[in-house]
Amino acid sequence: MTQEEQIPQVLREVFEEAAAVKDGELAAYIPQLASVDPEYFALSACDTAGNSYAVGDCGQSFTLQSVSKVLAHACVLSHCDEEALGRRVGVEATGEDFDSIVKLDQHRRAFNPMVNTGAIVIADMLLSIYGEDALPKCLSFFASTMGVDNLDVDQAVFQSELATGERNRAIAHLLNNFKLLDYRVEKVLELYFNHCSLRATTDQLACLGATLANGGRLPEGGGCVLDPVVVRKVLSVMFSCGMYNDAGRWIYDVGLPAKSGVSGCLLVVVPGRMGIAAYSPRIDRRGTSVRGMLAVRLLSERLNLHLFA
Ligand code: GLN
Repeated sequence: MTQEEQIPQVLREVFEEAAAVKDGELAAYIPQLASVDPEYFALSACDTAGNSYAVGDCGQSFTLQSVSKVLAHACVLSHCDEEALGRRVGVEATGEDFDSIVKLDQHRRAFNPMVNTGAIVIADMLLSIYGEDALPKCLSFFASTMGVDNLDVDQAVFQSELATGERNRAIAHLLNNFKLLDYRVEKVLELYFNHCSLRATTDQLACLGATLANGGRLPEGGGCVLDPVVVRKVLSVMFSCGMYNDAGRWIYDVGLPAKSGVSGCLLVVVPGRMGIAAYSPRIDRRGTSVRGMLAVRLLSERLNLHLFA
């Protein structure tokens, strides 16, 4: 059996094994995220030729949360010069929690686009790029990378983050203090919370993963939606920083660029081959889906996907 032929069976096996795990908690710091069914579990894969595989609750959508940071980063890289971005946001892993202010306070610059400090600066840059239409323009850019026409904002999650996101508000004020924002704190946060509240399914995320695996071309011979150089930069940052303060362990064990979101979604890219997406809302203390991480680790082991294998 070729490795491609093994995928559906291995996907089912790892799904069953991970489904037995009940560890982790819902992301209750965003109250609306605590109201979802903790048992949801979906795994999807899509290869660059467009073959797709899915197990579990694949029709169930969820908010992208930090996975949207990948798209916001790609969008800024597609529209502004590297230097403008590099002055405000670096590409170094922080070794700190995703919502930490420690490195920002020490270095007066956001460490990378995958943690909240960097993503909030990037939201500010999206406002500079798109002006008043920033939200609809971001939505259509983001949707194009998943091969869909449109993505919806979950208004209840958006309002929930807006009402309770004092830590992100503190980050934005600190960024402002260091002259790293051009727009008002509330305006920047509004865009940031909106893109975190976009809903998608694991099939759509797997399609995004396949597009990233395919140098910016949609799978199945679809059009080019991202420049290959942008994709290379985005994948590099996902590889070193996408799993926050678990990044080293993740590279060691799994060896693939990935990004997690506190809703329990996980986007993984196997460069040149496929995208993988998982969704299960119980997360660990670092903010990553417990079942999602386990399922992808097992998939990487059994299909020999580690980049250095
Ligand atoms: N919207 C969330 C926040 O800013 C995203 C965090 C995450 O998914 N890690 O706190």
